Amino acid sequence: MKLLKTDVLIIGAGGAGMYASIAAAQSGKNILLADKSLISRGGATVMAQMTVAAAIGHEEADHWTHHLDDTIKSGQGLCNEELSSILCEEAVDRILEMSDWKTDWAGKDNRMSQVMAPGHSVKRCCYVDFLNTGPAISRTLRGEVAKQPNIKRASGLNIIDIIVDNNIVKGAIGLDIETGSYITIDTNAVVLAAGGLTRIFSRNSASLNMGGDAYALALRAGAELIDMEFVQFFPIGHLAPRLVGMDPIMWDPFRYKLGGRLLNGNREQFIENYGGADGKSPIVISEELR
Ligand SMILES: Cc1cc2nc3c(=O)[nH]c(=O)nc-3n(C[C@H](O)[C@H](O)[C@H](O)COP(=O)(O)OP(=O)(O)OC[C@H]3O[C@@H](n4cnc5c(N)ncnc54)[C@H](O)[C@@H]3O)c2cc1C
Repeated sequence: MKLLKTDVLIIGAGGAGMYASIAAAQSGKNILLADKSLISRGGATVMAQMTVAAAIGHEEADHWTHHLDDTIKSGQGLCNEELSSILCEEAVDRILEMSDWKTDWAGKDNRMSQVMAPGHSVKRCCYVDFLNTGPAISRTLRGEVAKQPNIKRASGLNIIDIIVDNNIVKGAIGLDIETGSYITIDTNAVVLAAGGLTRIFSRNSASLNMGGDAYALALRAGAELIDMEFVQFFPIGHLAPRLVGMDPIMWDPFRYKLGGRLLNGNREQFIENYGGADGKSPIVISEELR
């Protein structure tokens, strides 16, 4: 069996994995960035088409603490406040960093355009252009990864197990999809960034690669899985006719214009029972993104 040695193994090369590999590479360690698909092209990141929220305040006065307040409020008491706080605070620098790395955010005169999105109280959501934000971020990160001499990239390498000895990670087993051969990876550190598990739903808007591998790898390695009910979903999807190149998820304005209703298994409209406003909600998507 072929043996690879690395200081850090990063499993999954979407936004999370590529960014983790760039950050880890700053330490001077050797990084192996493995993806069962092509680097930067296999998961949800390259499919994300709309916006990303960060309180950069280019469109309206804003601060990351307001972003945090909106997040906690929208989370209806279910958010992990520490993690939410890290996300809202660091989002600002990360988005500006993407700008330094030449992501072509929409805007003019060095000010990014920001739009409203559900759950936000000000225009906070940055975008590249309609349907292109995820691909643009993927391209940016792919370029930055390629600049790091100590990141080795392995496309078509499906990680199928993490080797643990006495609760300490020692390595991993990968399957080379092209040759069908197994590869042993000797490493002291593993970062799991293998995305979500939307493939468990028969109809979904995501990539076939999002089959929950990270959950299975972590569980078999002895980790405890928590908050399993938090699967990211958008409740409205478009089934037919097929809109080639269009995001199959559907924003509320489209739904209302087309007369769509959100029903539970008893065919009842239910959102209003939980503080929502089905059928009457204000149009939250901004003009810029229509
Ligand atoms: C259609 C769609 C639209 C979206 N729109 C938005 C939006 O407008 N704004 C927003 O903020 N978010 C949006 N999202 C959500 C967002 O894209 C994701 O939350 C985010 O990209 C997840 O990034 P990630 O790096 O964690 O995972 P991913 O980008 O999914 O990357 C995971 C990677 O792991 C690889 N992998 C999986 N298993 C293995 C394995 N065993 N071995 C090796 N590699 C493996 C996969 O091939 C994949 O490349 C959207 C998602 C979808 C699907």
